[in-house]
Amino acid sequence: MASFIKEQVTSVTHWNDTLFSFTTSRDPSFRFKNGHFIMMGLELEGRPLMRAYSIASANYEDELEFFSIKVQDGPLTSKLQKIEVGDEILLSKKPTGTLLQENLLPGKNLYLLSTGTGLAPFMSIIKDPEVYEQYEHIILVHGVRYTSELAYQEIISQELPNNEFFGDDVKNKLIYYPSVTREKYVNNGRVTDLITSGKLTRDIGLPAISKEDDRFMICGSTAMLKDSCEILDALGLEEARQGNQGHYVIERAFVG
Ligand SMILES: Cc1cc2nc3c(=O)[nH]c(=O)nc-3n(C[C@H](O)[C@H](O)[C@H](O)COP(=O)(O)OP(=O)(O)OC[C@H]3O[C@@H](n4cnc5c(N)ncnc54)[C@H](O)[C@@H]3O)c2cc1C
Repeated sequence: MASFIKEQVTSVTHWNDTLFSFTTSRDPSFRFKNGHFIMMGLELEGRPLMRAYSIASANYEDELEFFSIKVQDGPLTSKLQKIEVGDEILLSKKPTGTLLQENLLPGKNLYLLSTGTGLAPFMSIIKDPEVYEQYEHIILVHGVRYTSELAYQEIISQELPNNEFFGDDVKNKLIYYPSVTREKYVNNGRVTDLITSGKLTRDIGLPAISKEDDRFMICGSTAMLKDSCEILDALGLEEARQGNQGHYVIERAFVG
């Protein structure tokens, strides 16, 4: 287990039957960029069982946070969902990922498009004061099937706007747009449909998507990423690749 860092669970929040989040201690030498993911897991029968996880806390916070699915027969999450304060988790030492501000060309509006646990990296990014310096608007879209899956709502709508350091930036620049597909809610519809129909930009009062002004970070299922790329490519936006900045970056929220 020498290649892993061990951390202790400091709090657990169960959002509903399928989602939970937890915080852990953080070794001060563990560095990451907002938007990164890491291998995280448990020691089971003397062996590490690791899965990729986005870090949901910001890189200046004392604790680490993760937002997780509960897959009933999932090798890791069938166990992980039972963790309690004081339990130990394992972390790899090398955070990585593409959802980084530095991968994007300068722009006016940063769209963060997520479905399900794809929200996790964006919870880190919306706590990054530098992101507020770079953009006029940050639009966080969270697509879920049921309203009970809209985790972190209170933190996004109540706590962050009152943050003593960057609360005013959040109030002025962050637009939160949760959308539900299988229940009636204020906003309904799939994230991709909200873009193609123009409903999203109309609802939030911003101009139609353009490659001049708009930048995207997208985190969701393989199908959601494929559809999103097709939509953005058709609008002339280009994905950041191989060290070249682009108009958008994508990352899978899970494999499958
Ligand atoms: C880059 C990257 C970042 C990730 N970040 C996160 C994260 O922040 N939070 C998180 O919960 N998971 C995340 N995942 C998925 C995670 O790695 C595991 O798949 C998940 O923890 C389930 O592990 P498991 O061993 O229980 O089941 P697995 O055998 O890994 O998965 C079983 C099946 O469950 C489904 N599934 C797995 N994860 C999810 C999910 N997040 N949402 C919906 N369905 C899912 C898939 O259909 C999968 O085939 C990420 C995956 C990648 C590739």
